Amino acid sequence: MISRKVAVIGAGAAGLIASRELRREGHEVVVFEQSDRVGGTWVYNPNVDSDPLGLDSSRTIIFNSLYESLRVNLPREVMGFRDYPFVAQVNDDGRDPRRFPHHTEVLHYLEDFANHFGLIELIRFETEVIYVGLLEEEEELKNKWVVRYRKKGEVGSSSVAHEVFDAVVVCSGHHTHPNIAEIPGIDAWPGKQLHSHSYRVPEPFSGQVVLLIGNRASAADISKKIFTVAKEVHIASRSTMNVSPTKWFGNNNMRHHPLVKCAHEDGTVVFQDRSLVRVDVIVQCTGYKYCFPFLEISDIVTVDDNCVGPLYQHIFPPVLAPGLSFIGLTWMAPPFPTFELQSKWVAGVLSGRISLPYKDKMIKDVEAFYFQLKVAAVPKHYTHFLGEKQFDYADWLAAESGCQPLEEWRKEMAKERDRNATARPESYRDEWEDGDLIVQAHEDFSQYLPAELCGRTSKHSFELISIQMPTLTKVGNNTVMIADPRTLLIRWFFGERAGSFLLTACTKQKLPAHSL
Ligand SMILES: Cc1cc2nc3c(=O)[nH]c(=O)nc-3n(C[C@H](O)[C@H](O)[C@H](O)COP(=O)(O)OP(=O)(O)OC[C@H]3O[C@@H](n4cnc5c(N)ncnc54)[C@H](O)[C@@H]3O)c2cc1C
Repeated sequence: MISRKVAVIGAGAAGLIASRELRREGHEVVVFEQSDRVGGTWVYNPNVDSDPLGLDSSRTIIFNSLYESLRVNLPREVMGFRDYPFVAQVNDDGRDPRRFPHHTEVLHYLEDFANHFGLIELIRFETEVIYVGLLEEEEELKNKWVVRYRKKGEVGSSSVAHEVFDAVVVCSGHHTHPNIAEIPGIDAWPGKQLHSHSYRVPEPFSGQVVLLIGNRASAADISKKIFTVAKEVHIASRSTMNVSPTKWFGNNNMRHHPLVKCAHEDGTVVFQDRSLVRVDVIVQCTGYKYCFPFLEISDIVTVDDNCVGPLYQHIFPPVLAPGLSFIGLTWMAPPFPTFELQSKWVAGVLSGRISLPYKDKMIKDVEAFYFQLKVAAVPKHYTHFLGEKQFDYADWLAAESGCQPLEEWRKEMAKERDRNATARPESYRDEWEDGDLIVQAHEDFSQYLPAELCGRTSKHSFELISIQMPTLTKVGNNTVMIADPRTLLIRWFFGERAGSFLLTACTKQKLPAHSL
């Protein structure tokens, strides 16, 4: 197998797992990270861009988009890397053991991951990559990549250093550059606008009439928070939400509308059904744009209407493969496990363990994929959207990489999460009915859990460790009823292995026969 010198740009979740996989495969890895810590998206920053809409190209850019109240929107069992489970750390007071924890818990997890696998030593912190390009030199340096970088805060050409690599893996994230909905008449409209990238806390919206544009996770989360202080909250979106916002709150101060048609100088905003509202603030929850300001191959890889391409399997530009690759462009699929599979594939391709198809075959494959999207009338900016294709994509990567397909419990749990979030948009993070899948997940995790948790010899058992008031009653075959919707910590034992999980606010939990 070939060992290559590889540059990884970014030490967020994608950069961390990519560097672990590359090193496991025997490559020499250098990770460039512009900030002073690992975690990327998951490092909360109370500061915001100097232009909260992100239109001014000379604005001060704050990389991070997290809002203060954010709890994850995937169950931790689904969200974590496959062989480093994202389990609750119940003996540590600073941690959030909930199944859908606060964002701080994810940062802890990523830091633990980086420390556990000794990745910190690979990372050059506060080092921003400003240029990545092919080296146009004599034969022996052909297909090599030059990376130019500088230490944070240093300016001028003398502060720029460079290094040559065999390959570059781009893991720089895509939640920093706001995508903005164009609203006719907005220039004359007197209100205030911001993008969700620059939303942190609800207090500034106190007593205001607020319009949110968008209907994905951040619009749902942010509207619920702003609702607690605002005079009125309106939501405009292309598709009707799964449930009306009034169902979320049983309150008429939150209304759903079709998309915005235009805005007027008297402060009103008109919707496509011609209804209108006088609005003080517009919050655009309209997603983000891919942006790679350091890439000097703009004629080969382009970003067109938020489609980065041409890319074979969302990762390799056929003409530059395998020297250049992208991890983490896909969306609407559990990010961390997807990054893990993408990283295994890239690492294996770079070492020569896995073969890529010939360049022409990859080009044809990408063209066929674009054609399919066109025929199905999928907008270009949905190119990297996986949605229903997520499991086929993951299993394809796993098969190519020679590792196990995505766990069945993980697939089922992800689907169950979607069903639950639709049925209980206001409480899905605290109320669920997939306890049987949690048990399966933990049985699977037991192979990776630290030895100190093991040691019990009873065959299979469950033990209630902490209980805050509720009563647990066996109500039928394999089913327990939890009378009070609070948190239960359950530790399980499976032969020599053990683990723990939390049940929170559930009504009924189906557990496997051996557990009761
Ligand atoms: C508001 C919000 C909520 C989310 N909620 C969830 C959730 O609940 N569950 C979930 O699984 N996912 C969630 N996500 C998705 C999340 O972005 C991914 O889970 C994942 O963390 C993305 O990791 P990444 O490494 O691709 O990018 P990032 O985390 O963005 O990391 C990229 C890194 O690259 C560095 N970098 C960028 N450019 C350069 C450069 N030129 N030089 C050097 N370093 C550079 C950055 O500093 C950063 O550290 C959420 C995202 C957002 C924005």
